[in-house]
Amino acid sequence: MAVETTIPTTTSTSLGPAANEKDAEKLRFIDEMTAYADAVQEKVLAEILSRNAETEYLQRYKLGGATDRATFKAKIPMVTYEDLQPEIQRIANGDRSPILSAHPISEFLTSSGTSAGERKLMPTIKEELDRRQLLYSLLTPVMNLYVPGLDKGKALYFYFVKSETRTPGGLLARPVLTSYYKSEHFKSRPYDPYNVITSPTPAILCADSFQSMYVQMLCGLLHRLQVLRVGAVFASGLLRAIRFLQLHWEELARDIAAGSLSPKITDLSVRDSVADILQPDPELAEFVRAECSTGEWAGIITRIWPSTKYLDVIVTGAMAQYIPTLEHYSGGLPMACTMYASSECYFGLNLRPMCKPSDVSYTIMPNMAYFEFLPLELAATRKGDGDVQLVDLARVEVGKEYELVITTYSGLCRYRVGDILRVTGFHNAAPQFRFVRRKNVLLSIESDKTDEAELQKAVESASELLKPYNATVVEYTSHAFTKTIPGHYIIYWELLVKDCSQGRTPGGEVMERCCLAMEEALNSVYRQSRVADGSIGPLEIRVVRGGTFEELMDYAISRGASINQYKVPRCVNFPPILELLDSRVVSAHFSPALPNRSPQRSG
Ligand code: AMP
Repeated sequence: MAVETTIPTTTSTSLGPAANEKDAEKLRFIDEMTAYADAVQEKVLAEILSRNAETEYLQRYKLGGATDRATFKAKIPMVTYEDLQPEIQRIANGDRSPILSAHPISEFLTSSGTSAGERKLMPTIKEELDRRQLLYSLLTPVMNLYVPGLDKGKALYFYFVKSETRTPGGLLARPVLTSYYKSEHFKSRPYDPYNVITSPTPAILCADSFQSMYVQMLCGLLHRLQVLRVGAVFASGLLRAIRFLQLHWEELARDIAAGSLSPKITDLSVRDSVADILQPDPELAEFVRAECSTGEWAGIITRIWPSTKYLDVIVTGAMAQYIPTLEHYSGGLPMACTMYASSECYFGLNLRPMCKPSDVSYTIMPNMAYFEFLPLELAATRKGDGDVQLVDLARVEVGKEYELVITTYSGLCRYRVGDILRVTGFHNAAPQFRFVRRKNVLLSIESDKTDEAELQKAVESASELLKPYNATVVEYTSHAFTKTIPGHYIIYWELLVKDCSQGRTPGGEVMERCCLAMEEALNSVYRQSRVADGSIGPLEIRVVRGGTFEELMDYAISRGASINQYKVPRCVNFPPILELLDSRVVSAHFSPALPNRSPQRSG
């Protein structure tokens, strides 16, 4: 009788039994980093300070080569982007001296956070790509702990690049994911059965968002029975893909039936990338038509991709507003939020990716940067870190909220990211955080972040158009409407028309111009999403009848607000208040055209 030898298929780690030895190594790395969080942090700080000791920035604060926490905390101030703008501008203009970082700045990453209406420019160095890659490499081993068999099929991920520009000094400026997708790390990644994606790389790298989406969707349909997970970076991106299918299924089905690609796809490398897989398949074309022509979109994801086990999308923070819509389209599939990252630095990952969106906590990886935490009650103070004690990563307290402050290998020192996080617990000695909110963001549809000051400026700018009519905006509030795709901003205006005796009340055409004027006054990320991506719909002004905002105040007071302290909320989400506003609308107007995009940077 033959003796059967069994090869062990699982490898035990403290996070659970790994799917294979390669995963086990990554999980052990997570364990090690989190078990020695404080020591790793101390080492990271010493590395950053010693390599950057000769930079102009650290020299300015006379660290004298010290690399310890105490000296660092005593001498280096906490800063915001605006504080660093002069240094960043010099780098952008071509100054190659070691200003913030001893390593050469390789490019700028354009953040979706803005400063003075423009995307923030984050200087980065080449080796940061390796650090980001390292964090990416941890995601699959963690996911494999919860979802077995991901090597038996494919992932349908909608990934996109955006246009890139150059700074006056010649450095590239582009979003962090564009930089990643264009890197050899992504383009030349070795075959990994656990990470086979349906989208061909040329389709992802095509800057024309229509062509890119069309071919990514087409490939998703062609491989529909192998698809095990469907995703995009953020929830808004996945919903755009569904919207795309709603609008273009007929063309897609036609291409599938004929086995030839629409002439709208003009990018040759994109055309080449599907040449081998697009064969006439009338049966599949008929299936797509049957599913999409009914007008019933509930559960469309699992109807078209029946083996989908989960959606891979971020639905925390501003993206939480999309959870109900995604549930509708997916028939309630789990949503995995796998990582927490930014242009400044990639922070960490979710060690329980299949948990409910409301329970998501991210574990910050102590090797990525040096992390400090500004207790929320002190976050209102802009500087004053002489008396403000920032808390170290390993010393934050469960239940408390903090603003994240980072010191990176690229040269940001004690930089306020603007994210508010709540500690929910620990994994080993590393804290886990719930993403609470981004500071000062009032309105967001996708990556746009509009704050109160920007909204105020936009209202002021638009209301100039009312002057000839002797009309003014007496009150306003706003709402990010996301029940339709793309979503759009709604601004509620209460007008005071001082003299309408000559029949000169602002008409529909004037109000439409006001909508456009508001859009033109909003930040460049908003305008880019409107113009280049079409991911935000035309801004809407809803004029409410006189006295509506007083009713709003009465409502708030009836619910316990103090008259002395009452302030008109500049953004409303509470359904009864939205209902009240909507029931008082006398006219609604949409922006009739696309706003001008900034002629300068657009990345
Ligand atoms: P950007 O600099 O444009 O890459 O945007 C980074 C910001 O996006 C972060 O600082 C957060 O405010 C937000 N963000 C990134 N990842 C997540 C996440 N997993 N959950 C919630 N918000 C996130």
